[in-house]
Amino acid sequence: MSFTNLDIPFPLFDADEQDASEYVGVRRCTICNAHHHCFDLGIGAAVMVNCPSCQTENGLDADDREDAPCRKCQDVVPFPDYPADDEIVACYDCLRAGKAAITSDTELGMISWEQAYEGLTHGIPGLSRSDFELVDGDDGWVRARLPRETMFELLRTPNYSSIQGERWQFCCRAPMVFIGQWSRERFTEESEDGNGRALFNEIVQGVVPGLWEDQLHDITGVYVFRCSQCGRRTAQWDIA
Ligand SMILES: [Zn+2]
Ligand SMILES: [Zn+2]
Ligand SMILES: [Zn+2]
Repeated sequence: MSFTNLDIPFPLFDADEQDASEYVGVRRCTICNAHHHCFDLGIGAAVMVNCPSCQTENGLDADDREDAPCRKCQDVVPFPDYPADDEIVACYDCLRAGKAAITSDTELGMISWEQAYEGLTHGIPGLSRSDFELVDGDDGWVRARLPRETMFELLRTPNYSSIQGERWQFCCRAPMVFIGQWSRERFTEESEDGNGRALFNEIVQGVVPGLWEDQLHDITGVYVFRCSQCGRRTAQWDIA
């Protein structure tokens, strides 16, 4: 079932809930205690907490569960007093309200809450593109400047399950919408003339022989995106 059908829509994730890495079903939210559709906050996720001294919002690592210095005044921001044994989950409302942040890996580099406040991705070595302002980072890494709202939207969106890690795609100067991990049957359904293979060759990046036949390995994944501005579709793939 899709998130839209579950009544918990995500502007950038228009796919089956099983395609989302962090979705754990209806649980009690660690942050607000409500019973609601929840998302697991594991490695790379943060709980957003205001500094008790200066009220500046800070992200605290949901996996480490440790206090951290405030990014503005350096005073200690204590990690909330959650039950120690339970995994930390955030409900849809808390995630969408920005009380939690899920790190996103993109073709412009990784984005976690630190990068969102900076307005720059973590970067990619040798990144080269013309649609975003690029800023040189350390050791040949190149960072992309993105609107903060764009970056926070990605942090409020679950990751898609993949074999080798996600790589969120961009088009028309904005993140594309993830529309699912597609099977050959799905490509055939989505093609206008029943030629799934032609559609596959058209939208999947870096197609290699045997990929359509799924002969590369026991497991490959093909992850499809749609641009909400121009409608273009693209897909990347990986292999176990
Ligand atoms: Zn909640
Ligand atoms: Zn502070
Ligand atoms: Zn586009």
